Amino acid sequence: MQSPTTPTALVTGVTGQDGSFLAEQLIADGYAVVGTTRPAARTPPTPSSSGQSDRLASSHLRIVEMDLADAETIDQLVAETRPQEIYHLAAQSSVAESFDNILSTSDANALGPVRIFDAARRFAPTARICFASSCHIFNPPADVRCNESTAIAPQSPYGMAKAFAHAMATHYRDAHGMHVSNAILFNHESERRPAQFVTRTITAAAAAISLGHRDTLELLDLSAKRDWGWAPDYTRAMRLMVAKDKPDDYVIATGISHSVADLCEMAFSHVGLDWRNHVTTSATPGRTNDAPALIGDPDHANQSLQWKPTRSLRAIIASMVEADIAQLSTG
Ligand code: NAP
Repeated sequence: MQSPTTPTALVTGVTGQDGSFLAEQLIADGYAVVGTTRPAARTPPTPSSSGQSDRLASSHLRIVEMDLADAETIDQLVAETRPQEIYHLAAQSSVAESFDNILSTSDANALGPVRIFDAARRFAPTARICFASSCHIFNPPADVRCNESTAIAPQSPYGMAKAFAHAMATHYRDAHGMHVSNAILFNHESERRPAQFVTRTITAAAAAISLGHRDTLELLDLSAKRDWGWAPDYTRAMRLMVAKDKPDDYVIATGISHSVADLCEMAFSHVGLDWRNHVTTSATPGRTNDAPALIGDPDHANQSLQWKPTRSLRAIIASMVEADIAQLSTG
């Protein structure tokens, strides 16, 4: 039973990587969490989420079904829960998939957040909101680190939808006086990352090859550079921005650049293998409009939130390979 003073947080996308870590952190700090997942009938055969339902069992968490296209359900949910804090994380989270599913990505990732913001405006106007924006709103020159003032120039349907929602978050903040912050998230990883993302593709392959289940891994592009951090650090940053008196935009990143080839070296060396003996590149060219490098400058979050990342990429990759080995070994 919740006490009348227990704060309530609404976490959309609670079954995803970030939603599951955030729910655990909020519950540990005494919150009651209402988390959303898609209605089962609308979840595609290869879900975008990492399916965290099992590990989320807690009497302080209520999971409800919500589709981002369904404004009526969103209104009812916000009106009924009247949360003090809203973390809007639910999204079609794959850039690659957004090229094939432009309409559904636009609906979920551009209009979905507006449905959340507007429900909050009408039913929970004092709620503090964190929106999961993305580094894919940027397209900087090679090796330039992006900050909150970097020009918005998305290159994918995913990035374009996030850019629209990011601007709308600012609109609700400025025009309606709401406490809405944009968390401009650079890539962040964990063993809960869904399998289709490149980090998990590589760690799962290194684990499988080390166990003799397969011998090679084919990748599209080894040269792409990204800024990869540890997912629980990023959900901690979301909470810090919600706790600030004033809402703002924050780049959440490590500031350190690594290539896909670096990821391969880290994953394969962890299991005593030379990645160059196992990784091949595809003859089929990959997407041409992906930014070659996306690196963040987290100085504003460092200064204003006293936020710093706590785990190196090598340690993150090692823990992901270990989790993949454990999963393959138990069947
Ligand atoms: P994730 O693991 O893919 O989880 C996505 C969540 O969104 C799942 O709970 C999924 O529900 C839900 N969802 C998907 N489509 C939906 C729809 N149409 N209606 C309602 N719910 C829907 O993503 P994540 O890595 O935790 O990312 C969290 C947020 O941060 C996302 O907005 C993502 O775009 C953003 N972001 C992430 C990164 C990163 O590196 N992880 C970087 C930049 C921005 P089901 O349980 O039904 O699948």
